[in-house]
Amino acid sequence: MTRRERILREMGLAPLWRLRDRPEAAGPTETVQPAAAFDASPADERAQRIAAMGWDELETAVASCRDCRLCEQRKQAVLGVGDPDADWLFVGEGPGAEEDARGEPFVGQAGKLLDAMLAAIDLKRGRKVYIGNVVKCRPPGNRTPEAEETAACFPYLQRQIGLIRPKLIVALGKPAAETLLNAEVRVGAARGRLFDYRGIPLIVTYHPAYLLRNLTDKAKSWEDLCFARTTMAHQSGDS
Ligand code: URA
Ligand code: SF4
Repeated sequence: MTRRERILREMGLAPLWRLRDRPEAAGPTETVQPAAAFDASPADERAQRIAAMGWDELETAVASCRDCRLCEQRKQAVLGVGDPDADWLFVGEGPGAEEDARGEPFVGQAGKLLDAMLAAIDLKRGRKVYIGNVVKCRPPGNRTPEAEETAACFPYLQRQIGLIRPKLIVALGKPAAETLLNAEVRVGAARGRLFDYRGIPLIVTYHPAYLLRNLTDKAKSWEDLCFARTTMAHQSGDS
């Protein structure tokens, strides 16, 4: 078995799916305005403070943050992991139990699948890739973070994006997509389209944890990865 076949098998795609690009990679670009509530408005002192932080300050601030109730049950806050100069930014929902215990995003079952997805497009955690979440503290019982929690935590993600300046953002699942685009998003309808987060192309695909439960949608996530890869190739060619 070739490495690629092995990876595809791990993703649950072999032997049906072969590496190929979507014929038409770049769809129409859609811009969604960020909402005032999520914006680092001049009046918002906290957001301004966060917006001026470097990595060390960000790390320290998140580790001791108590700005929403998710701080109450976390073992530790999980800022993110990877290359601070990454071209690729993958954004998930929030830490699960293993992430909460280890302090790194996507290290459980969903993380294994994410690693396989990355490998399928020749990416590797930490090499030109940064992985983060919309909330840095584990929602109890892995429930979906609530709007006020994502709003409270968003300035940290905004700052991460500002520091990394990735060439492409991949939103993994609905909460990531909705937070970044500040709009209601149906992943099934949003995938395959090119969005924009403050001038950075953004693609929406399924969350790996969802894919673990919905095997038939793995094929679609594969298409999305090919779309992302082609979009990145265009980005890199343009710059
Ligand atoms: N699911 C997520 O959204 N993020 C993680 O870090 C782990 C699982
Ligand atoms: Fe702070 Fe974010 Fe953790 Fe809430 S989830 S306590 S805002 S770091």
